[in-house]
Amino acid sequence: MTLQIPASMLPADGRFGAGPSKVRTGQVDALVAAGDPARPVLGTSHRQAPVKDLVRRVRTGLTELFALPDGYEVALGNGGSTAFWEVATASLVRHRAQHAVFGEFGGKFAAATARAPFLAAPEVVEAAPGGVAYLTPSDAVDVYATPHNETSTGAMAPVRRPAGDALVLTDATSGAGALPVDLHETDVYYFGPQKAFAADGGLWLALLSPAAVARAAEVEAAGDGRWVPEFLSLTTALDNSRKDQTLNTPAVGTLVMLADQVEWLLEHGGLDWSVRRCERSAEHLYGWAADRDWATPFVADPAERSTVVGTIDLDETIDASAVVGHLRANGVYDVFPYRKLGRNQLRVGMFPAVDPDDVAALTACVDHVVARLA
Ligand SMILES: *Cc1c(COP(=O)(O)O)cnc(C)c1O
Repeated sequence: MTLQIPASMLPADGRFGAGPSKVRTGQVDALVAAGDPARPVLGTSHRQAPVKDLVRRVRTGLTELFALPDGYEVALGNGGSTAFWEVATASLVRHRAQHAVFGEFGGKFAAATARAPFLAAPEVVEAAPGGVAYLTPSDAVDVYATPHNETSTGAMAPVRRPAGDALVLTDATSGAGALPVDLHETDVYYFGPQKAFAADGGLWLALLSPAAVARAAEVEAAGDGRWVPEFLSLTTALDNSRKDQTLNTPAVGTLVMLADQVEWLLEHGGLDWSVRRCERSAEHLYGWAADRDWATPFVADPAERSTVVGTIDLDETIDASAVVGHLRANGVYDVFPYRKLGRNQLRVGMFPAVDPDDVAALTACVDHVVARLA
């Protein structure tokens, strides 16, 4: 039996997934335009001007959005952030990495460098889910790696460079475009298109400092016996990116939606605007939870509560998965917690494409469902 939520209470758009996340109608319109047989982009060669122009728009748009410091470059390739972990393992870590792990995604990158036969076992700084592990200065590592936003738990960490000259790699898959960042504080800020950029998955994008570019060249030329497959070579990806292309065929539709979202963010006021918009959604969500004795923000420290992916534990007397199910049946999607976290929880994607008013409508819908389940 499904509860009926009154139509007047429902959000205008019911997509609150943590990735893939809401795609704006404007992006879908851009796709339709790109498929127009009079001026086709979709279904045409990725080595010709129309698709290269899309890649150029993405690269110049990201340069502006992130106020790229002098000498930094935008690289991209196929395979998503998961592939980028392997790229970084093969092309950026000289000997040993340090990983901040406070959830699934940070843990996956740590597992990648731990498996590499040519690297020493990584240093791992760990915090239990719901907290944040902070990078710790170490003379024994040449790469520091941390998530900007741990999508599996809803905890965020400021981007800060530890003392020393090890490279800093920031997994900004769900934070980029929604959380504040000063790129001087990191050497590699990498992400995918399917979270704050509201497009589809499948690509990785990386903002690279001159030190990161130099490191990749050094590591790949070192002849230390490691095999760097062409697909995992950051220098190869960068060579292609400089020509506004990818090593192999990209999903053109993803590029269309990504370019449109980057420009939409810029038109509305850029990163500051996006950060504030997500903060407004988050203030509402966490404030709502604080006002209910059956809802508690999962992340204990308010400063570590993500303003882009919010996690709210429900009292054990309320079955969160039933709430999620009733919401979905009413067109309110994907507020389930990260699978492996296994908590009685709601997780809400509050990416810039999501209207803060819709987050308010979502919490009203949760109230409605919870009152009727009781
Ligand atoms: C979604 C996500 C990933 C994985 O991205 P894919 O593109 O699916 O590989 C990695 N890290 C974080 C922080 C994420 O949110």
